[in-house]
Amino acid sequence: MPPPRRQELPPTAGLPLRPGDLWPAPGPSLARVVAAQLGTPPLQLECSGTASLLIALRALHELEPRRHRVVVPGFTCPLVAIAVHQAGLELTPCDLRPGHFDMDPAALRRCCDEQTLAVVPTHLAGRVADVDDALAAARDVGAYVIEDAAQALGARRGGDSVGLAGDIGFFSLAAGKGLSTYEGGLLLARDPALRELLARTASCMVPRRPGWEWRRSIELLGYAALYRPRGLRLAYGDPLRRSLRRGDPVAAVGDDFPMAIPLHRMGRWRQSVGARAAARLPAFIEQSRAHAQRCVARLRRVAGIEVFDDSPGQQGTWPFLLLLLPDQARRDAALAQLWGAGLGVSRLFIHALPDYAYLAGVVPPRELPHARDFAARSLSIGNSPWMTDGDFETICRTLQACLG
Ligand SMILES: *Cc1c(COP(=O)(O)O)cnc(C)c1O
Repeated sequence: MPPPRRQELPPTAGLPLRPGDLWPAPGPSLARVVAAQLGTPPLQLECSGTASLLIALRALHELEPRRHRVVVPGFTCPLVAIAVHQAGLELTPCDLRPGHFDMDPAALRRCCDEQTLAVVPTHLAGRVADVDDALAAARDVGAYVIEDAAQALGARRGGDSVGLAGDIGFFSLAAGKGLSTYEGGLLLARDPALRELLARTASCMVPRRPGWEWRRSIELLGYAALYRPRGLRLAYGDPLRRSLRRGDPVAAVGDDFPMAIPLHRMGRWRQSVGARAAARLPAFIEQSRAHAQRCVARLRRVAGIEVFDDSPGQQGTWPFLLLLLPDQARRDAALAQLWGAGLGVSRLFIHALPDYAYLAGVVPPRELPHARDFAARSLSIGNSPWMTDGDFETICRTLQACLG
């Protein structure tokens, strides 16, 4: 591992906050600003993406109390499994298409039955997932579709925001995921009756908890102060390198979540910070897209690398570039040089869901060979505005050397 640099690039491209965002200001609410930008029906603001999913699941379970299974991709954020558990439902992790993050159509149909409440296609890394197949499989058994767009705020398919093709969608406003209020989530539903149910469910479930809001407000101030190359070394890089030295990759990527998800309402100050920053979001997404396209073109010249890109008709977002290497040995060789190097190279999730020891009580054991293969061969490169052409060239050359 090369010596760490004074500057640290983030693993995902969050929209940097400005001091002016922090002044309390009256104005349209965060949910309204984002809904207007995306051209969606009204959005429902929650305290996290996970809380949004939990509320969506509880709402659907109220409609279909006899259905209690939730089908999710075998390679996704552990918080998804925790939300299903906290909703009192049963998780069914589904294997992936070989070499892809989408659920495998045949495996998905084996996972779905008349007990299935919802299927959760996931727009990973800002890429647009195959929601149509999830819809077809879900409709066959009478289940709902919840689009996990936690990593894809601003992504579109055929001009429409992701999250609108399924019954419900959600975005995350967590630190590093594009627009951030440190933690936050937005729920989306096309159908007015379902929107009303989601609002009613949240008003029953979600208390005001000023202690949590204080904590999140201080965390947001810390994020505003440290989310820049100098601060990230302290806030992200040094703890990352300590975890890597301990041989704890789950801690290194922050996959070690608590088993209980707090539910509370987001206060006015954090909303106004988000609303002001959101004004810069469309331009930020465009700039990230242009940068990512140049990086994708360069990576294509490295033989043996597969980079995930948009298909025709899709306009994803680019928090980071998601890559597959030919095998785990070469992926690990690349990570040995790049992970702790301060260049924003990382892994997405460490394991397929059934392989997290701490989720043993939540995720049933299952053979998911393609999800496991995806975990073993993938790596990510943060698409940060602070990454220079020189930084990116260093990454490409290192990958080339490991593959050659
Ligand atoms: C981060 C994430 C979530 C959870 O969102 P939070 O806002 O962090 O609670 C859900 N799904 C995926 C794919 C994620 O990356």
